[in-house]
Amino acid sequence: KPRRVALVSIFPEMFAALTEYGISGRAVKDGLLEVRCWNPRDFTSDRHRTVDDRPYGGGPGMVMLAEPLTQALREARNWAEESGPARSIYLSPQGRQLDQAGVESLAQSGNLVMLAGRYEGVDERVVESLIDEEWSIGDYVLSGGELAAMVLVDAVTRLIPGALGHDQSAVEDSFAQGLLDCPHYTRPEDYQGSRVPEVLLSGNHEKIRRWRLKQALGRTQQRRPDLLEKLALTPEQTQLLEE
Ligand code: SAM
Repeated sequence: KPRRVALVSIFPEMFAALTEYGISGRAVKDGLLEVRCWNPRDFTSDRHRTVDDRPYGGGPGMVMLAEPLTQALREARNWAEESGPARSIYLSPQGRQLDQAGVESLAQSGNLVMLAGRYEGVDERVVESLIDEEWSIGDYVLSGGELAAMVLVDAVTRLIPGALGHDQSAVEDSFAQGLLDCPHYTRPEDYQGSRVPEVLLSGNHEKIRRWRLKQALGRTQQRRPDLLEKLALTPEQTQLLEE
C-alpha cells in the first residue's frame, strides 16, 4: 500500500520538486508514495477566488480564511484516510522542531495530511479544529509552508522500505545512529595531489568499518558535541574516540 501524502496549498505546482526528482520522484513512480494536492482557491465562491483577508485587531499582512482551508483539509483528509489512519500536520515555525527522531516517528505512522500556510499564517480556528500537530523545520521564518512540507516528506520518504536503492544507506546516514556520517570518496585515487585515505583501498572490511566509525565519532565530537553527549557509547566507540 503506498504511503499517502495529502497536501493543502495555494501553490500546488511547487510540489513537482518532490514528485518529479530524485528519491522521492522514484518512490512516486514505483508506487511507494502517493502525493495529491488540494488548492484552497478551488473551494472559494467569489469571482477573485479569495483565500485571505485582513487580520482582526489590525496590523500588517493577511491571514488565510478558515472556510476554503477547512473544505480543502476535509477532502485531503478523506483521501488520506481511505487507506488507513492519517496525521494532520500544520507546518509552522511554532511547531515541534523536526529532527531525525521526529522523521522516524512520522515515517512509522500512517498517511500524512499537510497544510502549508502563506501570508501571516492561517486562521487559528482551522488549527484548533482540524490539525493534530504542528511541525517546524527550524528557528527561522519561511514565506510559506510548501518548502517545509517538502523537507518533511523528503526525509520521511528515505525511510520507506524500498525507497532507497540500497537499503543500508539510510542506516549509515548522519544521525541514523546519533552520529554524523563519515567522509566519502570516489575515483580517482589521486585528485589534484590529494589522495584517498589508504585504508579505503585496502579491501579489509573490518579495518574500513573501524576507520569509518572513528571518523564519524571524531566529526561528531568536533562539529556537534551536543549529539555525543546524548549518546550511550559502546565500548568500541569509547575506545575509538580515545585512540
Ligand atoms: N506569522 C507566522 C508566525 O510567526 O508563526 C509566520 C507565517 S510565515 C510568513 C507563512 C507560513 O510559512 C506559515 O504559515 C507556515 O506554514 C510556513 N513557515 C514559516 N516558517 C516555517 C518553519 N520554520 N517551519 C515550518 N513552516 C514554516
